[in-house]
Amino acid sequence: PEQKAPQDLQLILDDIYRELTPRLGEGKVADYIPQLARVNPRHFGMAIVTTDGEVHRVGDAEVPFSIQSISKVFTLTLALGKHGENIWHRVGREPSGSAFNSIVQLEHEGGKPRNPFINAGAITISDLILAGHTPKELIGEIVRFVRYLADDENIVIDHEVARSETVTGFRNFALASFMRSFGRLDHPVEHVLGVYFHHCALAMTCSQLAKAGLFLAAGGTNPLTGHSVVSRQRARRINALMLTCGHYDGSGDFAYRVGLPGKSGVGGGIMAVAPGKASIAVWSPGLNENGNSLLGSLALEMLAARTGWSVFGP
Ligand code: GLU
Repeated sequence: PEQKAPQDLQLILDDIYRELTPRLGEGKVADYIPQLARVNPRHFGMAIVTTDGEVHRVGDAEVPFSIQSISKVFTLTLALGKHGENIWHRVGREPSGSAFNSIVQLEHEGGKPRNPFINAGAITISDLILAGHTPKELIGEIVRFVRYLADDENIVIDHEVARSETVTGFRNFALASFMRSFGRLDHPVEHVLGVYFHHCALAMTCSQLAKAGLFLAAGGTNPLTGHSVVSRQRARRINALMLTCGHYDGSGDFAYRVGLPGKSGVGGGIMAVAPGKASIAVWSPGLNENGNSLLGSLALEMLAARTGWSVFGP
């Protein structure tokens, strides 16, 4: 299929939405906390921001949702900014091959998580960026950073979600305690998880998320704001991690079908990056068997096929 001109992007989005409309509600909404369980499964939104500043939206692109694990891209970016490549002494960068909240791999590898996007790895990243801060200060810094990335002061944390995560987060407490038993966390488990639960509870719209990811599509500098966020090399490397590890145990399948670096969250959102072209966010709460948005993945597969944006070739 021949590559579409950029002005056709809105048509492509509209077509995708129309074609997926009969399937809205498919998949299984996360139900481990009431705030996610009660989200209407028929929501669907998508936003694209191109590196030359065009914005396209469809459906519920302006409805905030819980970004959950997508926030791990932002905390990883902060950790790289604070500690540079030293973070790799504390967390690996290989796909995990097991569930996002698995404890087994940790035991085999001396408490070192496989990558920064599985829960144990993101908890380690929270510990790393806590250095020199109270949890409260750091949570404030994370929110300010995401607002800066998206150039939007309205982004907030849903504190009810954060509270529910804390009350039900037995598995995450187990992961953090287990790592602490290996001497792999510098701060108290409660502090580290306080940070982790709060960044997972950020609420954002597809439009905000697509803008926040734009620096990764544009060599580290957000072309809309001129903010230089990371170096070109670092943007490439974060994209590489999203491609290999961004979809839990379904990362290979996402690369095969979509061919774009992306990070999903259990709230049904996916942020994806077409390097040099655009940043994309999609939200549909129903999840597939790997915990990734079912229709969101499908929408990105359709988008990549119709634009020729796959990083593996047009
Ligand atoms: N806060 C969620 C958890 O740790 C994140 C889940 C996710 O999006 O993977 O269970």
